[in-house]
Amino acid sequence: MGLFDLTGRVAIVTGGNGGIGLGMAKGLAGAGAAVVVAGRNAEKSAAAVKALQALGAKAASAEVDVCDEASVAAMVERAEKAMGRIDILVNNAGINIRKRPEEYVLAEWTKVIETNLTSAFLCSHAVYPAMKRAGGGKIINIGSMMSIFGAAFTSAYAASKGGIVQFSKALATAWAVDNIQVNAVLPGWIDTDLTRAARTQVQGLNERVLARTPAGRWGTPDDHAGIAVFLASAASDFVTGTAIPVDGGYSVQGV
Ligand code: NDP
Repeated sequence: MGLFDLTGRVAIVTGGNGGIGLGMAKGLAGAGAAVVVAGRNAEKSAAAVKALQALGAKAASAEVDVCDEASVAAMVERAEKAMGRIDILVNNAGINIRKRPEEYVLAEWTKVIETNLTSAFLCSHAVYPAMKRAGGGKIINIGSMMSIFGAAFTSAYAASKGGIVQFSKALATAWAVDNIQVNAVLPGWIDTDLTRAARTQVQGLNERVLARTPAGRWGTPDDHAGIAVFLASAASDFVTGTAIPVDGGYSVQGV
């Protein structure tokens, strides 16, 4: 079996029915993994399954609300029943509510924290027994440039994404003994539904992103295929607790 070969492995990707999640799911499928895409929108999920099957992969969908413990348990049960095991979890589902902190109400704060951070705990907790049974596993948590930086309209989002990095480190140390590696990926500014909304809400965002990103462009979901394969494969067996930017150089731009 090659270093990057995922033949026989099974992955769950939350929010894998679009955007960055689907980019990662395609990478995993291309490397031989069977993939379960989990989201709320059944139509999007059905289209994603078709796209993954077109790559020759075994794929299925699971409807889930990642904020709901029972729903997450059902997702894991469905994935294990459909595919026989679980080796890889990508905690990718996420949202943002863009408002200044003084305009936030508690329900909005809670919604963002639950969707972006508590969900990673719920899903990781739910897959742990299956990963132990499989003799190990890989958990990939999706952070953000807001894991490192702040912006006036991202108080809850930045808190959740900073939390994702620290949660990844804690999980990595706890579950190393079980041969489970846990890492975070920090995407830069990526062209998806999420940031299409941001570009309409935040004046000048497009220009600022292009000016600051050394690569001179927005990232694409497909830019995340390679890092997903690396962090899901034997190639990263001694890599755990890290947070790896996929940002075209955004986070190292000095001037
Ligand atoms: P999208 O809006 O395209 O994807 C978000 C995904 O999350 C959707 O597939 C959605 O599925 C799913 N989702 C949201 N809430 C829930 C929920 N309660 N239960 C289940 N699924 C849910 O955006 P992106 O692809 O951009 O975002 C993916 C991740 O990447 C997020 O964590 C985001 O914070 C992060 N990120 C994005 C960046 C960017 O520039 N785009 C930069 C840095 C990080 P459904 O539609 O079925 O509800």
